Amino acid sequence: MDLAELRGVRVPRTLDEAWLQPGEAWLAGGSWLYSTPQPHLRGLVDLTGLGWPAVETSPGTDGTGLAIGATCTVAGLLAGTAPWTADPRRASVAALVRRCADAFLMSFKVQEVATVGGNICLGLPAGAMTSLAVALDARATLLAAGDGARVVPVADLVTGPGRTDRRPDELLRGLEVDAAALTATYAVRTLSLTPVGRSAAVVTGRLDPPSGTCAISVTAATDRPVVLRFGALPGADELAAAVAGIAAERWYADPHGAPDWRAHVTGVLAREVLDELHAGTREVAA
Ligand SMILES: Cc1cc2nc3c(=O)[nH]c(=O)nc-3n(C[C@H](O)[C@H](O)[C@H](O)COP(=O)(O)OP(=O)(O)OC[C@H]3O[C@@H](n4cnc5c(N)ncnc54)[C@H](O)[C@@H]3O)c2cc1C
Repeated sequence: MDLAELRGVRVPRTLDEAWLQPGEAWLAGGSWLYSTPQPHLRGLVDLTGLGWPAVETSPGTDGTGLAIGATCTVAGLLAGTAPWTADPRRASVAALVRRCADAFLMSFKVQEVATVGGNICLGLPAGAMTSLAVALDARATLLAAGDGARVVPVADLVTGPGRTDRRPDELLRGLEVDAAALTATYAVRTLSLTPVGRSAAVVTGRLDPPSGTCAISVTAATDRPVVLRFGALPGADELAAAVAGIAAERWYADPHGAPDWRAHVTGVLAREVLDELHAGTREVAA
């Protein structure tokens, strides 16, 4: 849609030029900004002018990890991780990226422009890149003028429907993913009320083979990400008890699903995720 109140779009080439003036907002892919009236805005600052790399290797805390630029598009992330499909150590994380990208209620045209950073900054419960980043245990780097960098786990950055811990003057620079996340084993289940509807529940499971630790993450069904951590693959009863222990006010209510239904289907999806992770360990042992 036309944003009639806008007086201009700035395209900064350096970080110094990118800080917001009154009435401005950062523009990434624009798939949300241009989808709804923005009467309070007078200008946009186009982050794509900064030329941040989409995906690159990074010297993580535990070996060679991954850095994802905030302006990396969903399509760019898919392209950057697609070669991993042929690598047995990284095929599982490549499949996770694909499943999360497909959880977007959007056409391929939107995937071409929508960015990882824009998705996380919106803080929608059905934020598919939030689901992905939480499954990967990714950390977000936030920059503020003259203030250095602040690093926050994405699981803590999204705090409620449309709410994040990001201050309005903080720019999301990108995500850091540790090396261990790239070789972990994942299982994913998503559910919508309609075949191509917005996700009502997304459950991801992660098993780290060296340590044996397991994390089950819930998004879309809850108003903010919920991560259930276990020292080893839990039994079905232990997992069911952990899901039942999620606070009642966390279950999200919107036209895509009632809270009690979301709580119920999350339990079912979590059990399927667990069964898939258990089956994977049996295959490896055989
Ligand atoms: C048909 C359709 C379907 C959609 N389906 C979904 C869906 O299923 N799930 C979902 O979550 N969303 C959905 N969306 C909403 C939106 O398209 C996505 O969330 C998208 O990822 C937003 O990214 P963007 O780059 O286009 O953000 P933009 O529209 O450019 O920006 C979104 C917001 O984030 C801020 N922002 C962007 N980047 C940064 C940054 N680096 N630092 C600080 N602030 C920043 C902007 O100022 C703005 O407030 C859908 C949209 C459409 C049109």
